[in-house]
Amino acid sequence: MLTPVFHRNGVPISVGRTQHIVPARTRKAVLLRDGGCAVPGCGATRHLDVHHIVHWSDGGPSDTWNLVALCTHHHRSHHRGRLEISGNADLGTIVFRNQHGVNMANDGPRPEPPEGPPPAPTSEYHPPLCERLDMNYVSFVHPARLAPFTRQAKAWAARHAATPTS
Ligand SMILES: [Zn+2]
Ligand SMILES: [Zn+2]
Repeated sequence: MLTPVFHRNGVPISVGRTQHIVPARTRKAVLLRDGGCAVPGCGATRHLDVHHIVHWSDGGPSDTWNLVALCTHHHRSHHRGRLEISGNADLGTIVFRNQHGVNMANDGPRPEPPEGPPPAPTSEYHPPLCERLDMNYVSFVHPARLAPFTRQAKAWAARHAATPTS
């Protein structure tokens, strides 16, 4: 299928401040450019929103540099203040910061693949007993009825704590 993208001198057509609702052709250009949610490591390619990096209410235009594709989860995170988005989408200089202010592109060390097969077991494996829980033997005990036992246990613990062990 062919998806038309409108360009003028190589720059996707811009509608600036004339339209708040992103026109279909601009939306298409943004979705094609980003190829999915633009948040590093997200990879969502469905149910994408086109978000104004500089919010419309703050004077941000509906131009491709100010628009970025976000999945609904990340879009919500941003508008709830848990994801900071800044930069120019056309220049690929968008910076995403999480709620801790950490640049999400600078992800830390990745898990290393294992170097070989796991070590051989050193002892016989004893599986759990896998008995069914029989509710006939489960009953509710009022905490007041447990109090004498709790007192006994505490007294025992106190006696043993007082006894030097070595
Ligand atoms: Zn938005
Ligand atoms: Zn996402």
